[in-house]
Amino acid sequence: MEQFAKLARGSIAPDPDHPALGPLALADADGSLYIKTDDLLPGRCIDGRRPTTPYATISPCAPGASLSLLIGLAATRGITDPMWGAGELAARLTAAGLEPGIHTGPDDHSSGCGALDSASEIISLANETEPLVRECADALDMAVSTTFPLASLAGVPLDSAGIYRKFDEDPGSRVTPLRGVHSEIAIVVNHEKGTTIDQNTLDRLGEVDVFDVDVWSLEVAADWLAEEFGVDRDHALSAMNAFTIATLAFLAQPSMTVLHHT
Ligand SMILES: [Zn+2]
Repeated sequence: MEQFAKLARGSIAPDPDHPALGPLALADADGSLYIKTDDLLPGRCIDGRRPTTPYATISPCAPGASLSLLIGLAATRGITDPMWGAGELAARLTAAGLEPGIHTGPDDHSSGCGALDSASEIISLANETEPLVRECADALDMAVSTTFPLASLAGVPLDSAGIYRKFDEDPGSRVTPLRGVHSEIAIVVNHEKGTTIDQNTLDRLGEVDVFDVDVWSLEVAADWLAEEFGVDRDHALSAMNAFTIATLAFLAQPSMTVLHHT
């Protein structure tokens, strides 16, 4: 995708002739790539590494799962602590019966999540490349109505490990250990409400992984943040969408396939 190629500066991409790319596009076209989910808010990371059993869940995906909501919240109401209000967000999600979600790395005692561990760099990238982020957002129907939606977070210290601990300590949070090996072969931007990627389909295609972005769940998340915290809904959504695009650009190479499912 031409707009994404201009922005991307990461290292992840498959061989151009990867045998699963064709079948993946077919599964996207015939709908077998998708499965229904009852969850409405992001509960899993876009990271292709899948949860190990018994933690496997079917839940919409966004960068860092609940981290995306935290970015939307912090960008709209400003920063009051180095954890950006992670403890409060986790507690409110739990109180509302909406399980906060985050993932651990291989050692189970750190985040291990690229979106969380590199959040400051991703925010810098989004701010420095705003026109390209906006171009990409337009091409993918991801609303970014606010100009520089992450500007308030530029250069603000962020305690990634502390944020991870806040979610980990919340009794209602789902902290999921993920598989060590992952090699995403595509980005899937999914707008079909109530669905996410069917990991079984990916296994059938040859145990491949993709970056799964369930954009519709970020729209639900923006509604929830506006209602629960009284923040500006459009700004929160713009911040989450810009962070999502910048995360993908931070991780993937320009040649990465982008599938746009509406
Ligand atoms: Zn992650």
